[in-house]
Formats: sequence, structure tokens, C-alpha cells
Amino acid sequence: KLQVRQLRKTFGDLVALEGADLDLADGEFLTLLGPSGSGKTTLLLAIAGLNEPDSGEIHIDGRLATFLPSYKRDIGMVFQNYALFPHMTIFDNIAFALKMRKWPKDKTTEAVERVLEIVQLPHVATRYPRQLSGGQQQRIALARAMVYEPSVILMDEPLGALDKKLREQLQLEIKRLHKELNIAVLYVTHDQEEALVMSDRICLMREGRIEQLGTPTELYFRPRTLFAADFLGEAN
Ligand code: ATP
Repeated sequence: KLQVRQLRKTFGDLVALEGADLDLADGEFLTLLGPSGSGKTTLLLAIAGLNEPDSGEIHIDGRLATFLPSYKRDIGMVFQNYALFPHMTIFDNIAFALKMRKWPKDKTTEAVERVLEIVQLPHVATRYPRQLSGGQQQRIALARAMVYEPSVILMDEPLGALDKKLREQLQLEIKRLHKELNIAVLYVTHDQEEALVMSDRICLMREGRIEQLGTPTELYFRPRTLFAADFLGEAN
């Protein structure tokens, strides 16, 4: 689905990302985990086409996408601060991406209704974002990201702003959606526990580099470095 090769990104003297190699398989749930400033968001934004890497390659669905504009990449996005459009109804918020892609009206309505069912908010289409709770808004953001059935969804700390209970509930929901729709997910968190319970594989990042990449079991029981052991050990 997604291949990243030797990606490098600098901001002035600061090397935010160096030699990043990553493969996301069909339907896989891969989590980028690491402390603040380790380059997780930088990597995600490069894949999304929202910042341009200095060098390296990104392939999406077998196509070289390194310099494709964001809207031409077959990718959905859910960011913690990627707010809904406040002046649009929930329906229009979700339909926005479909209008950009020139979907016909009946197909659009059908798709929006379907994703509202999937996130279990079938009756909110005519409401405005401010009339929903934070958790409901985050579900709408999920619905919006998956409405055109992208092959990959990028999620940057999508549950970061929510309280613990709601976070756990939405973790389960994201897992369910991922399984049901078989969408590959690249997920960013700095929460070790969240990474361990949600992921097929975890990519541990440190200072712009990939420290270790493996299944949760591998990282937890066979950390290759002291850093990996310390970082994942904190989940205890
Ligand atoms: P967090 O968990 O805090 O979001 P992160 O792992 O996502 O951290 P990045 O946001 O990718 O880290 O940042 C990696 C490094 O690049 C940091 O040192 C950050 O300060 C720097 N950086 C990121 N974006 C910019 C920018 N637009 N201009 C300058 N420096 C930046």
C-alpha cells in the first residue's frame, strides 16, 4: 500500500527525519511511537503531501507520490487539530472530499449515510459541529476520512484531546472500523499502551530515526536497545 524509502527532512540545521524506511501492508495497522520531537508528525505530513521531504521516495499503491499534491494521493487524514468546518453541517463536512472528487449527488448521499451509520451517529447529518460533543466530532472526523474509501488513513494522535474513558471507547471503534473496512492505518501516538493494544506493528522513533520496527510482542519482549526497553517498559 505504502512504501517510504530513505526519507530525509530538515528544518534549517535541524534534521527532523533521517533515513526513514517504512512499508505499510494492505489492511495493516502500523503505529509510529516515540517521544515528542522524534519526527512522527514530520513523517506523517510528508506521506500526506503536506510537507516536502529533502530527499527520499514515497510510493502509494505502487505509484511514485513523493511530489504529488496532497489531494491526488489516495489517503484519508484524521489529525487531533484537524477540525471540522464550523460553518458547514455534518453532512457537508463529510461530503466535502467527495465534492472535490466530483462524485454525483446520489452516490454522495449514499456514502455519507453509510459512514454515519458506521461511526454510529446516523441522526446528526443536519447538525453543525458545535452541536456535537468532542468525542462525536472526532467520530465525524473519522467518517470524513474514510468516506471515499482511501486505501490508507493517516491518524495523528486522533484521541489525544479526549478523556481516558472516551479514548478507550474510540480506540476500540477505530480498531473495529479498520478491520471491517480493511483500510491500512498509519497511526501516531506517544502513548505506549495505546500503541501496544492497537497495532499490528510498531515503529519506534527516536531523534528522527527509526529505532526499532516490529510487532508489539517483539518490541515489548525483545527490545533491541536500552532506549526501546525504557520506552516500552514505561507501559508497565
Ligand atoms: P510530538 O509528539 O511532540 O508531536 P513528533 O515526534 O511528531 O513530536 P515532529 O513534530 O515530527 O515530532 O518534530 C520533529 C522535529 O522537527 C522537532 O524537533 C520539531 O521541533 C521540528 N519541526 C517540526 N516541524 C517544524 C517546522 N515547521 N519548522 C521547524 N522545525 C520543525
